[in-house]
Amino acid sequence: MPPVINKEKCKACGICADVCPMDVFFGTKKGEFPVITYPEECWHEGACVQECPIEGVIKLRIPLQMMICYK
Ligand code: SF4
Repeated sequence: MPPVINKEKCKACGICADVCPMDVFFGTKKGEFPVITYPEECWHEGACVQECPIEGVIKLRIPLQMMICYK
């Protein structure tokens, strides 16, 4: 499941789109709220969550069958 971004806290820096190794945020422009263009490409490796400068803005919804892989 794709990342969920808190619109009220997001600073639209574009870092999440830059670090995503897939095209989940394809089309996102700097200075604008990130767009989730291809949610099915998210494989939950968490680069966007780790690199976002504001803690807690992005949350990943980990599919139940993948939960065992996360701490
Ligand atoms: S990295 Fe965080 S603050 Fe920057 S655009 Fe993405 S969600 Fe918003």
